[in-house]
Amino acid sequence: MSRSVLITGGNRGIGLAIARHLAEAGDRVAITYRSGEPPEGLLAVRCDITDADQVDAAFKEVEAQHGPVEVLIANAGITKDQLLMRMTEDDFTSVVDTNLTGAFRVTKRASRGMLRAKKGRVVFISSAVALRGESGQANYAASKAGLVGFARSMARELGSRGITFNVVAPGLTETSMSEALSDEQLENLKTQIPLGRLARPEEIAATVAFLASEQAAYITGAVVPVDGGAGMGH
Ligand code: NDP
Repeated sequence: MSRSVLITGGNRGIGLAIARHLAEAGDRVAITYRSGEPPEGLLAVRCDITDADQVDAAFKEVEAQHGPVEVLIANAGITKDQLLMRMTEDDFTSVVDTNLTGAFRVTKRASRGMLRAKKGRVVFISSAVALRGESGQANYAASKAGLVGFARSMARELGSRGITFNVVAPGLTETSMSEALSDEQLENLKTQIPLGRLARPEEIAATVAFLASEQAAYITGAVVPVDGGAGMGH
């Protein structure tokens, strides 16, 4: 069955892998992109998720072409790593505004159509860091942990309306986000991963696709780690 899917930040990395996976499975996939050129073969709408007007305009375009959004993947995110003493207020608030408030903006907008349809799937891309914390990532970890409280509140608030809200918590994944790390940092981080390697974006996409599927109809408010065991016990 073809569904109208919207993935934020779907022009590269994990978001693009999710988009390709769901498009191959037959869904009508739209992605948002903020900069650069959009990927080919997908409906792409320009949108900065820190701007509610741009979010609304993007949804209108997707609704006009694909119908109301039935599956929302809140994936767009940024890092601005810094030790607390050097972290500026802007470093903190801009990360929260994108990763957490951005997810709120798109969820609120998507919920209109989902409430009308009395069904829907929302998956938030959090991080293993959300629950275990990380030195130098207080802003990022706080924003990603916030997604868990947000998703679980939504699961309670809108569960009776047939909408599920789940969180995927990836560990370090091979994208431009992890490319920013030095070789030394990468080697050090790998020692903390039982499976001894980074995730591939396709491995995150497979779990997201399951949570967005009909088979996952009775799963809501869950936090699913896809982290090679890095976050075990958290
Ligand atoms: P990338 O940096 O490769 O991609 C990030 C995406 O988010 C891009 O499409 C980017 O758009 C988009 N984006 C950022 N800010 C905004 C904004 N204000 N409005 C709209 N779009 C925005 O990262 P990943 O693919 O690695 O990350 C995807 C998600 O997975 C993020 O939420 C990240 O936190 C999370 N994650 C990543 C991990 C990793 O190791 N890679 C580990 C755990 C979680 P643009 O191209 O225009 O900049």
